[in-house]
Amino acid sequence: MSPVAINFVYIVSAALFIFGLKMLSSPSTARRGNLLSALGMLLAIIATLLASGLSYGWIMLGMGIGTIIGLVSAYKVEMTQMPEMVALFNGFGGISSLLLAWAEYHQHPQVSTFIAIVAFLSAFIGGVTFTGSMVAFGKLSGKITQKAVVFKGQHLINGAILVTALLAAALFALSPANGWGYTLFILIVLVALGFGVTSTLPIGGADMPVVISLLNSYSGLAACAAGFVISNNILIVAGALVGASGIILTNIMCKAMNRSLANVLFSGFGSAVTVAEGDGPQGEVRPASAEDVYYILEAADSVVFVPGYGLAVAQAQHVVKELGDLLEANGTEVSYAIHPVAGRMPGHMNVLLAEANVPYDQLVEMDEINPRMDSVDVCVVIGANDVVNPAAIEDENSPIYGMPIIETFKAKTVIVLKRSMNPGFAGIQNALFFRPNTRMYFGDAKASIQALIAEFKDAE
Ligand code: NDP
Repeated sequence: MSPVAINFVYIVSAALFIFGLKMLSSPSTARRGNLLSALGMLLAIIATLLASGLSYGWIMLGMGIGTIIGLVSAYKVEMTQMPEMVALFNGFGGISSLLLAWAEYHQHPQVSTFIAIVAFLSAFIGGVTFTGSMVAFGKLSGKITQKAVVFKGQHLINGAILVTALLAAALFALSPANGWGYTLFILIVLVALGFGVTSTLPIGGADMPVVISLLNSYSGLAACAAGFVISNNILIVAGALVGASGIILTNIMCKAMNRSLANVLFSGFGSAVTVAEGDGPQGEVRPASAEDVYYILEAADSVVFVPGYGLAVAQAQHVVKELGDLLEANGTEVSYAIHPVAGRMPGHMNVLLAEANVPYDQLVEMDEINPRMDSVDVCVVIGANDVVNPAAIEDENSPIYGMPIIETFKAKTVIVLKRSMNPGFAGIQNALFFRPNTRMYFGDAKASIQALIAEFKDAE
């Protein structure tokens, strides 16, 4: 295939990526958007493979192994493990860019200053992305401590590592082809791998999804730089799109938690938060049985479900939909209020509810539901905790103060489904549980909702 034809296919692929990304912004078109982008990538891969002078044996071996690992892990991964899976993907994207820059430099050490600079960027950002993502994976999967690991002089050490990398990069870019060039490149790779670890370890497990989104952006930037190293237009475009969309998502998540990116990266949030007996709000809780909750729901004109991470753990999305249908049949107005950072990844609740075929028009965003919360009869909080904690608006000393929440406490009655009085990811107790209008319905969310469904069916 001629280079002109290959570039033509690349333009088609780039257009498919952009349309696909646009369609990802709505749950109703997201699935098709994903397919469209995948089609764009398939076209780009085919066009690239039709370039002359390739060694197909090695490529096919790599693709075969990658396809098997990808397929098996995609089938095996649980919905709650998705952020970990994305962390691994980002990490492998980063190491690919590093290796690509390295291989190119190894083959052609007589590179120009420009190529030396982009090779540095590709290797450095790729290396940081790789080890940073591995730490993020370890934290999310509980293989290493979820706490922010902070020690004295940490920022100084990280600063020194960064300055070393920049100095090495400057020397490397001035004369990549001389005897020191190769040593400097290896030094850059080692520093990048180390920096990924030292910059991610001080970030607490609760902030890992933000870090993963940021690392996703880094993996795009590394791929973009790698595209310049090997003069591949589609790698430049795809890398830039991933880099830009990752940083936009990171920004959205920070805003939803009312925290700056600098606060997420450098504050050590999660290092000091511990749940001690007697910490936080105290008081009397009012437990409720399935029968109590049934009577409350049966008499309600409007019910708003507020799902959180516990919905994903319990895999209760299908039974929630079933309960919603029963309530609607009973003449109750039903909706689902979605907090942007409920769960452990952006869109977590939307994905689960879409899987259970909850109609999109029943999903309401936080800003839409809050102003009319005081007219809601019953809010059913399903495995959500931090995203409904009134301390975020009322307690200036709370670590989550300022984070926008779904103001369930304003509803006439609140029913909270969870297994115990244990806190959520931020590690703090929730004053909502002690409010006079709150009833605690303890148990696994799926089993609890199944018991409610049984009550409704018995009454028919
Ligand atoms: P939380 O982590 O605050 O709370 C989840 C609750 O679910 C727990 O209190 C737990 O209580 C309960 N739970 C767990 N398993 C079950 C089960 N099987 N049945 C019933 N309940 C269960 O979740 P939220 O969704 O409210 O908040 C998300 C947190 O994650 C926020 O702090 C947010 O800032 C953070 N975060 C989210 C991001 C995102 O992109 N979504 C990004 C960054 C951070 P118990 O153990 O008693 O059952």
